[in-house]
Amino acid sequence: MDCVFCKIVKGDIPSYKIYENEHVFAFLDINPVNKGHALVTPKEHAKDLFEVSEESYIETQKAVRLLAPEIKDAVGACGVNIMQNNLPCAGQVVEHLHVHIIPRFKNDGHKLWHGSAVSEQELNEIANNITSGLSD
Ligand code: 5GP
Ligand code: ZN
Repeated sequence: MDCVFCKIVKGDIPSYKIYENEHVFAFLDINPVNKGHALVTPKEHAKDLFEVSEESYIETQKAVRLLAPEIKDAVGACGVNIMQNNLPCAGQVVEHLHVHIIPRFKNDGHKLWHGSAVSEQELNEIANNITSGLSD
């Protein structure tokens, strides 16, 4: 399969590996937002959150929980963002699910997205649409 992260997992493309177990592989991002920016990916190929198996996703998140504090301490960060993009309109470029661990530093200049105004009616409708989808 022509997937760059599958190739990294197999060792066909070199990477700065920081962790590996039976289910997951973690390595430093080649174009980091901040120092220590790492990616955690399931070994089993899955494009995104909508396709990944429950087991692979849980194992990936377990590794994120293990690694985030170590990365934070290793680079002297004051916080960490955990991000996972799904589909191109959400910023996904590599189509093999991966979770970003991004160490944060005081005044590093990066901003999270801002909120926007919403009516109670709209919140109500959205919540109802989601919960009725769940009970289908
Ligand atoms: P996405 O936007 O898909 O969530 O993020 C893809 C990430 O993968 C980017 O942060 C990018 O720098 C990283 N990346 C893309 N190709 C490679 C690669 O060959 N090696 C490594 N280590 N990181 C990569
Ligand atoms: Zn893959």
